[in-house]
Amino acid sequence: MNDLRDLYQEVLLDHSKRPRNFGVLADADHQAVGHNPLCGDKVVVYLRMDGDRIADIRFQGQGCAVSQASASMMTESVKGKTRAEAEALFKRFHELLTGTAGPETVSELGKLAIFAGVRKYPVRVKCATLAWHTLHAALARKAETVSTE
Ligand code: ZN
Repeated sequence: MNDLRDLYQEVLLDHSKRPRNFGVLADADHQAVGHNPLCGDKVVVYLRMDGDRIADIRFQGQGCAVSQASASMMTESVKGKTRAEAEALFKRFHELLTGTAGPETVSELGKLAIFAGVRKYPVRVKCATLAWHTLHAALARKAETVSTE
C-alpha cells in the first residue's frame, strides 16, 4: 500500500511539473472549459477528431497538482481512442474514484489506477475528474462551461 502511495506521489508530481499535451490546439474542432469552484481548478480541453477517433488532444489549465496531473494523464490515455472508448475509460475512472470498481476495471485503467488514493479525500475527487468531465463536454460539442458543482 505504501508503494502505491509513493507511486501516486511520484507520478502526480511528474505530471503536474511536466504536463503532457499542454497548450492550445490550433486546429481543434471541439473544445470545452471545465471549472471546479471548490478548489479553483480550471481546465480547457481541445480536440481534433478524425471521424469518431480523437486524432489529437491538448489541454490548458491552472489549479492544484491533482487536477493538472489528472488532465495530463487523461490526454495521454485517450489520444487515438474512439469517442466510445474514451467515454468507457471515463466511466471506469469514475468507478475507481467512487470505490465501485472491480479488480478487472482497475487493471484496465493501467497507470490511471494510481488515482485510487484520491478516494480517501472526497474533495479531491472533483479535482481528479474535472478534466474527464471537460473531455466529455468537448466530445458532446457543448459550448458552455462545465462545473463540477
Ligand atoms: Zn483541485
